[in-house]
Amino acid sequence: MAADKLNLFDLDRRDLETFFVSMGEKPFRAAQLMKWIYHERVVDFAAMTDLSKALRARLAETTEIRPPEVILDQGSQDGSHKWLIQLDSGNCIETVFIPEPDRGTLCVSSQIGCPLDCAFCATAQQGFNRNLTVAEIIGQVWQASRLLGDVRNGDRIITNVVLMGMGEPLLNFANVVKATDLMQDDFGFGISKRRVTLSTAGVVPALYRLREVSEVSLAVSLHAPDDALRNELVPLNRKYPIAELLAACKHYIADKPHRRITWEYVLLDGVNDSEQHAKALAALIRDIPSKVNLIPFNPFPNTRYRRSEPAAIARFQAILMALGLTTVVRKTRGDDIAAACGQLAGQVRARGRRLARAAQLAG
Ligand code: SAH
Repeated sequence: MAADKLNLFDLDRRDLETFFVSMGEKPFRAAQLMKWIYHERVVDFAAMTDLSKALRARLAETTEIRPPEVILDQGSQDGSHKWLIQLDSGNCIETVFIPEPDRGTLCVSSQIGCPLDCAFCATAQQGFNRNLTVAEIIGQVWQASRLLGDVRNGDRIITNVVLMGMGEPLLNFANVVKATDLMQDDFGFGISKRRVTLSTAGVVPALYRLREVSEVSLAVSLHAPDDALRNELVPLNRKYPIAELLAACKHYIADKPHRRITWEYVLLDGVNDSEQHAKALAALIRDIPSKVNLIPFNPFPNTRYRRSEPAAIARFQAILMALGLTTVVRKTRGDDIAAACGQLAGQVRARGRRLARAAQLAG
């Protein structure tokens, strides 16, 4: 039965080498196979002509190369894309592509739901279901690259990947590290190391471990310059307060020239968007190589928060810039398809259920 087969999307290069050696094959078969999967997007063993017929037959017997299934492909007027991806038993996740003049960014999910319960995030409202497998994470990139028609030897369409979809990537550590390795691997998607960014709310011990095993860029969801406010917005702060988080971030980029931390700061009207907040934020990160990403709050049903006024956003940015911090205001994209930060979730579930019901009716 298909479900019993080993899905080779779950293996990174090292796992594949071990796997081939265990079959009595040479380790370089891993690179050969990866080129088929990630460069040619071929998942049918029969087409892999540089592998012997006997090896292809053995692979097909016990393994498969099965990406998660895309059940909805929505394009926005501004060129953004959102895909609804079906996992097991009616579980869905979303993947978003955002084209800009100088790059194309794919935003992928790492968990179904999220356990962190941040006050201003739609994903929190659906609770936590489970971690995604490596296949389900790398499969999002594989599917997006296929549907966008990305080609290997030309101008790449997907130049950046950010783990900023649903879930807290550092709570799915092993799978996220393997999947990001596959994104960066030359025989995988070959995306430049610093263009794969992991966004975290600040799981401090995992940050120390991450430095040892990965070369992803780091984005950190700060959202408040003091512990009292951050405890409220990002409950994880009660476990790992700001001082500990900043120490871990400094350590992450220590001795890595040209690396910096991207700080994400969602702007909530009357909550964290005053002049004092901006100054406190600047003081906090002054001695860390930084870039600040201000995210105007994206509302969703039943939220008590509002987006800061444009004037407040401009003032906040101006204060940080005057204090020497590179600061950008994230543009809201894909408005017409609800593809913005913090909007991936509630609707997914409702839509997932609706689609499931529609499928049942149709069947
Ligand atoms: N768990 C990871 C990834 C979360 S999503 C993390 O916390 O970083 C990526 C970013 O979107 C985070 O900075 C998150 O705080 C932010 N975000 C969540 N909900 C939002 C909303 N409604 N509007 C704007 N940004 C939001």
